[in-house]
Amino acid sequence: MDTGARWPGPSQATLEIDLGAIAANWRGLESRLAPGVACAAVVKADAYGLGAAAVAPVLAAAGCRSFFVAQLEEAIVLRRVLGPAPDIFVLNGCLPGEEDIFPAHALIPVLNDRGQVALLAGQAARTGLRPRAALHLDTGMSRLGLTPDEAAGLAEDRDTRRAIDFVLVMSHLARAEEACDMNGEQHRRFALLRAGWSGVPASLANSSGIFLGTSFHFDLARPGAALYGINPVPGRPNPQRAVVTLTAPVLQIRDVAPPETVGYGATFRATTRMRVATIAVGYADGWPRGLSNRGKARFADASLPFLGRVSMDTIVVDATGAPSLRTGDRVTLLGDGLCVDDVAADAGTIGYEILTGLGGRFARVHLPA
Ligand SMILES: *Cc1c(COP(=O)(O)O)cnc(C)c1O
Repeated sequence: MDTGARWPGPSQATLEIDLGAIAANWRGLESRLAPGVACAAVVKADAYGLGAAAVAPVLAAAGCRSFFVAQLEEAIVLRRVLGPAPDIFVLNGCLPGEEDIFPAHALIPVLNDRGQVALLAGQAARTGLRPRAALHLDTGMSRLGLTPDEAAGLAEDRDTRRAIDFVLVMSHLARAEEACDMNGEQHRRFALLRAGWSGVPASLANSSGIFLGTSFHFDLARPGAALYGINPVPGRPNPQRAVVTLTAPVLQIRDVAPPETVGYGATFRATTRMRVATIAVGYADGWPRGLSNRGKARFADASLPFLGRVSMDTIVVDATGAPSLRTGDRVTLLGDGLCVDDVAADAGTIGYEILTGLGGRFARVHLPA
């Protein structure tokens, strides 16, 4: 199998993706589900930046039978990768002109409003076929999905239900990673709505939703982030295995002394003589500029704080604490105790944005499961 691996050149930052850890994370989540509940995998945005073509087959081999992506284009590629067996759901639904592409690739649109439902009912009338679809019910996100009134109306609409083969009703939690009343309220609304869809499997929980208790599991869980090592229970120890290691080589080592400054805008000024290293990764690689003067790298047991601004292609780090560091050595930016959630917090964002922002310039190495 082509894993997409390219051996890194000595001056290239390298992203190592542990496919075995992803499979273990999926199995770990599945084992938390109530008996009879299936575990899907969300592999949208190229498996959160980690490479859906490598990740999805490993999850299928682990036993995953249902996959979710955001876009039709992602789904077409995924179908080619996975072959005919798994269910592939498209969260963004189906816009006019796309409806015939779904059955051509055996893809399932998640219908998000009455217009999309009417589109598929029209398709059914035109083709004489009964298209498969999922239905998104909005229980509080105000993002995608039928309103509770629309959902109740549709549940009673016999003609449409005969025309369309609804294989899943689902909703999405807005605050699953928090302990708050909104989770209970969304659960209550969803349980009420899905009662109108007896016999149709139901799905509510994302990664964090799995940890809210078995009553949130319904028939199918839809984890994404936790598969890729993001902590689904912030503030508590991460039950997931780390998946990504990012290393960057040292291009140059030098001394700076007061009153010299480092980088664009001269935002760091040396107050003492120090040894600094320039490493080959920058914001063009998706390493956020928000980590300027805040991020850190690791080498051996030493922490190497970022000095000054993150540039497009390079970052300068304080290497005073790592006297053995040499040009060509690799420092670690993710992995070795640096977790994606902490990096994200330092950058003022979330792990999801860090992973999906990882650029195309890295050497990517998928470690086989
Ligand atoms: C992205 C997404 C998921 C996965 O959420 P995670 O927090 O990454 O587990 C599940 N359901 C829907 C509708 C989504 O958009």
